[in-house]
Amino acid sequence: MIYLDNNATTPLEPNALEAMLPWLNERFVNPSSGSREARSVRGALDQSREQLARLLGCEPGEIVYTSGGTEADNTAIFSATEIYPARRHIITSVTEHDAVLKYLGWLESTRGYEITRLGVDESGDLDLHELAHRIRPNETALISLMWANNETGVVWPIADAAEIAAQHDILFHSDIVQAAGKIPLQLGETKVHYAAISGHKFHGPKGIGALYVNRHVPFHPLLHGGGQERDRRAGTENVAAIVGMGVAAEHAWQHLSAPTHTLRDYFESELRRRIPDITVNGLSATRTPNTSNVRIPGTQAEGLMILLEQKGIHVSAGSACHTGALHPSPVLAAMGLSSEQARECLRVSFSRFNTQAEVDILLDALEAATRKMRQIFQPLEK
Ligand code: PLP
Repeated sequence: MIYLDNNATTPLEPNALEAMLPWLNERFVNPSSGSREARSVRGALDQSREQLARLLGCEPGEIVYTSGGTEADNTAIFSATEIYPARRHIITSVTEHDAVLKYLGWLESTRGYEITRLGVDESGDLDLHELAHRIRPNETALISLMWANNETGVVWPIADAAEIAAQHDILFHSDIVQAAGKIPLQLGETKVHYAAISGHKFHGPKGIGALYVNRHVPFHPLLHGGGQERDRRAGTENVAAIVGMGVAAEHAWQHLSAPTHTLRDYFESELRRRIPDITVNGLSATRTPNTSNVRIPGTQAEGLMILLEQKGIHVSAGSACHTGALHPSPVLAAMGLSSEQARECLRVSFSRFNTQAEVDILLDALEAATRKMRQIFQPLEK
């Protein structure tokens, strides 16, 4: 299998798997049990906290483990609404992940919140002047903006956006699920108050993530119970997954300066050489080094995916959460693509485990699949 869908999920880092195994076997003690062994389990949880803190550029005490990116996003929004119950306005963007958009939509339809969803320009960029303009003093509780987009890889100037929020005393959350492990982050040097990460996006296990909670900012937990995570997130810790995520974070940090963009750039330039009328969505924006979202006119991404899959190659027709649904990607629509154009778009997301030989196989297969689809579609269009 040639796996090139690393924004959907990533293969587990082999060292992470190895580190997890003892915690699923002989070292199964509950970290809250008060025994001597429990102390060493808590030590392992703290070691992972340090590894994550290094990756995110924050203090270990600012890391709260969650069941994944979705819970971390939900928790941040919940906390903000509890801190400012009288403020009923929240600003976000149309290109956020559903983990943010669906919760905000629910607040809007059932709790009377007003949600401002900022648009983007054709390159996927955000307008910070518009952000500042949409703030309602003493009414806006939270600004929630992602650091990097899952479909296009477009990176936003989140430190600047958080600065704007701070000037108006507004809480700032960032979904950094697609940024963590791909680009250098120094959360501690920003005015970001909350940030969500997910282990399985940087070669950790699934079902584990964390919320960064700036130590100077109040916080209201979503889950109440046994007092774990210093009363910030109740529930017996998923020790093995936390240890695996920590090891994965350590390796991601060590590889941060590795030039993963060389594969991405090679793919895009070679594809353009072979199929000159392709366009790259978000090309003129800053992007994460691993993500390529290309439009191949005269094709359909679902068909291309099937043809590639027959050759054992996995890519995506957009965000994993939208694949299978017939409606076009809201991210590409926000960038001005028609639904027909959006259906011609393929997302290829690389990881440090991919090789140039794999990209060459993809290019050959994609060129052949494109030729095949164009032969089928073009006579129909005439
Ligand atoms: N936010 C973004 C940007 C994502 O890409 C994802 C995963 O697809 C999530 C949140 C949700 O993370 P998880 O799968 O850990 O719940």
